[in-house]
Amino acid sequence: MPSKSSLDSPASEPTLRAMRPAAQSPIDARHAEMFPVLALSEIGRISRLGERRAYPAGARVFSTGEIAPGAFVLLSGQVDIMQRVGDRDAELIVSHGPGSFMGELAQLSGRPALVDGVARGPVEVLVIPQRRLRDLLVEEAELGERIMRALILRRVALLRSGGGGPIIVGGADNADVLRLEGFLNRNGHPHQRLDPGIDACAQTLIDRFHITPRELPIVLCPSGEMLRNPSEVALARCIGLLVTLEPDRIYDVAIVGAGPAGLAAAVYAASEGLSTLVLDCRAFGGQAGASARIENYLGFPTGITGTALMARAYTQAQKFGAEVAIPDEVRRLDVESGAGCFRLTLANAERARSRAVIIASGARYRRLDIPDLAAFEGSSVHYWASPLEAQLCVGQEVALVGAGNSAGQAAVYLADRVAKVWMIVRGPSLAARMSRYLVERIMATPNIAILPDTSVAALEGKDGILQTIRCRSLAGEDRSYSIHHLFLFIGADPNTDWLAGSGVALDDKGFVSTGRNVQGSLETNLPGVFAIGDVRSGSVKRVAAAVGDGAQVVAALHRFLQKADSSAMAPARVGEP
Ligand SMILES: Cc1cc2nc3c(=O)[nH]c(=O)nc-3n(C[C@H](O)[C@H](O)[C@H](O)COP(=O)(O)OP(=O)(O)OC[C@H]3O[C@@H](n4cnc5c(N)ncnc54)[C@H](O)[C@@H]3O)c2cc1C
Repeated sequence: MPSKSSLDSPASEPTLRAMRPAAQSPIDARHAEMFPVLALSEIGRISRLGERRAYPAGARVFSTGEIAPGAFVLLSGQVDIMQRVGDRDAELIVSHGPGSFMGELAQLSGRPALVDGVARGPVEVLVIPQRRLRDLLVEEAELGERIMRALILRRVALLRSGGGGPIIVGGADNADVLRLEGFLNRNGHPHQRLDPGIDACAQTLIDRFHITPRELPIVLCPSGEMLRNPSEVALARCIGLLVTLEPDRIYDVAIVGAGPAGLAAAVYAASEGLSTLVLDCRAFGGQAGASARIENYLGFPTGITGTALMARAYTQAQKFGAEVAIPDEVRRLDVESGAGCFRLTLANAERARSRAVIIASGARYRRLDIPDLAAFEGSSVHYWASPLEAQLCVGQEVALVGAGNSAGQAAVYLADRVAKVWMIVRGPSLAARMSRYLVERIMATPNIAILPDTSVAALEGKDGILQTIRCRSLAGEDRSYSIHHLFLFIGADPNTDWLAGSGVALDDKGFVSTGRNVQGSLETNLPGVFAIGDVRSGSVKRVAAAVGDGAQVVAALHRFLQKADSSAMAPARVGEP
């Protein structure tokens, strides 16, 4: 137990940096929630979950870019939380006193810390390792909720400042900058961008290291490593988002896809004690993460952005102990008859093994069948309408193709940020495929114009920058629009290429068939392989339906694993900690 005198001190309230801005910053406004101070009785209760450690004055209790031994409760002394922002000196975020809880979402998932914790004088802490932190969140309902809220708010503040993450050096409209920023944004990882066109230091850096235009953008990782126009996988490895899988471990279940279906299955499976691995080739949230505002998901009467909803689900899955590997693309599914398990082979040749597999790989956006589309993708042609894309189009006219709900949401979202949205619609009106509330909202938005019975005939431009969109009416008349950004929301095809050769049965459109062995079940023709969400043949393509599938599949999963356990063929649970 900490000494009473240190914790009883009124000075134990964490103090914010000395210079408070006149207007309340988000940190000030939610200070008490972000920096909870634990009562003596609470510390006494949770001390069983950790071990005491002492640090001398000046020591780093944890460091940016390094995996911390866990989360911390400060028992005595003072620890300053410092944030490294760009090339500036580290800035003080907060000074913690006795009783303060120190940690961030990175500690929940065992990823490198995004801030430094520096001991000001000798300190004593209770270190709660990653696994026990999850126990704390689950076992201590009220305290766990306070801590979870603090973890999320701290990450939100870091996302706003960009501190602790990598620095991307490159122009705002460079397609690879957008690719990397999109990847980090969608995965909720803070970062910063330095534009050499604006920032002289960034240009000096490029000159000094003789970076050629093809090598841009460069990325400076917190570890000090510099990457030249990296892939998402290389970036994720460098910043510790992606770790190597244990090839010999057999999980109870591997879930392919971290969209709403996969994350729901992960929450239920992990919370019910199954060892759970989730793999996604892109980002958590799937298509739902691309939604500017989901208004028809139960319990959110004012709507919620897809990213916010999915970020909560992602954190929730980690709270219950699901391991999430992003970006890891699954290329093959095989049965290992000898070991009585399944083997997933990844794009990087790593493999993951599990006793059951849940296919939650959803669908991928459709592309327009027009020449030169690829030349404009990434810079001028977009499949998401997030703040990142909207920022590129501020004050401009944009075009959007599509007439479903996702197109409608994107049009309404963009209309708030751009001069005008031209909606290109193949049919005579929006009414056929769009919810009525969205049609009404579009009709009431003065800067959305609808071009019915129209399709895109050609894209014209130079160096990946779109200059003109040529549209064709049903009557065959062409009209050109001087527009630099085109958004495509024209539906999706199932992500099932990776199942080729697996023996999993698909329907005539490539969606996964289920219920062949037991009618109405979510099991495929291969016992122990299940399919949920948009990828499942006949599913309702909605977030709620995907989440429902995710919850339902876990009951079937338990039945399958119990049956396997009771059969002589049950595989040993190899490699579990
Ligand atoms: C812009 C937009 C707006 C929408 N708005 C709404 C709305 O307001 N309300 C609503 O109810 N629905 C909405 N939808 C539909 C909803 O998002 C989907 O029905 C839902 O996301 C389906 O969830 P899922 O988990 O089945 O699949 P997905 O969301 O498609 O997720 C599948 C995941 O699997 C991953 N994956 C695919 N292949 C592999 C592989 N080989 N290896 C590893 N990972 C892989 C993908 O990267 C993806 O993250 C919208 C869709 C879009 C595109």
